[in-house]
Amino acid sequence: MKITKFFKKKPFIIAGPCSAESESQVLAIANQTKDYTNLFRAGLWKPRTSPNSFEGVGNKGLKWLQKVREKTGLKVATEVATAKHVEFCLKADIDMLWIGARTTVNPFYVQEIAEALKGVDIPVLVKNPVHPEIGLWVGALERLNKVGITKLAAIHRGFHSYKKSVYRNDPKWDMPIKLRERLIDIPIICDPSHIAGNTELIEDIAQTAMDINLDGLMIETHLEPKKALSDSNQQILPLELNSILHNLILRSNKLRDQKFRNELRAFRNKIDVLDEEIIGLFRKRKQIVEQIAILKDQNKLTVFQIERWFEILKTRKKYANNLNLDDEFITEIFDLIHKYSILIQTKNMRQ
Ligand code: PEP
Ligand code: MN
Repeated sequence: MKITKFFKKKPFIIAGPCSAESESQVLAIANQTKDYTNLFRAGLWKPRTSPNSFEGVGNKGLKWLQKVREKTGLKVATEVATAKHVEFCLKADIDMLWIGARTTVNPFYVQEIAEALKGVDIPVLVKNPVHPEIGLWVGALERLNKVGITKLAAIHRGFHSYKKSVYRNDPKWDMPIKLRERLIDIPIICDPSHIAGNTELIEDIAQTAMDINLDGLMIETHLEPKKALSDSNQQILPLELNSILHNLILRSNKLRDQKFRNELRAFRNKIDVLDEEIIGLFRKRKQIVEQIAILKDQNKLTVFQIERWFEILKTRKKYANNLNLDDEFITEIFDLIHKYSILIQTKNMRQ
């Protein structure tokens, strides 16, 4: 995939309200954020769960965005979900577009948007799909790339989860990392507002995004967050945004200092040895699992036995707690180990 970087400064900062509500609103927010941000965002067509919610001001907001650009010099962006939206935005000369999470999930919508953008050299930001399926995210970026759009970026806005959580959308930090593995050159911008769903967690999420070397932040800003017509729990004041940006610790991914480089290498060598040992242990475990499979087969015993699984979970959690390890982490690992044990046993029995 050929990607053209459309911004130089890192982190690239996008701010603005969830929804454009009036001309004076967008102008006031843009005025207050223009000195420390790089792009102004405001949704005009809002994908809402209920048809009774505010669904955005629609086309009339395009002029307001033009006014923002004219008065503040900021580039402006909005969300497109249909070919019609694209057409309106191109006519109004909007600088950048983004595709929302509810659109990325559907290849038909993305294809329609891509075709409406054929031959246009405009930056497009693609939010991750609602659920954690990396293929849909990559696929949407590829669809746009196929019609000739190279100024692409991904937006990490978290994932719907059934687990009880402090987040509105689970950050699943492994997903932006996986995306980076698949598309090495793609800039990834984190959207702490939609991950958090509240104002308290935004700073921490923004810092984590910087710590894992993401390229920018999209943060919803409003002058009266509580009165916002959409996402009123998660929008922050321009002043708060400024303070978050000011406090961000930016790290380098280059290893310049020789002493530091040597120290890091020594630690990494230790990790390499440990990981090899862990893999060796997995092999030993697998050999025992195969012997168990034979035994169960001879005795016509089912592969999966719930009591044994509960016992594994309970004891492994206890071992983890005794050693001060996160038991959620250990449970996840054993979930996977157990899944493969079952698979190995069923395969062996069929041979
Ligand atoms: C938004 O950016 O306001 C929005 C609707 O986001 P998402 O697609 O991430 O839900
Ligand atoms: Mn929003």
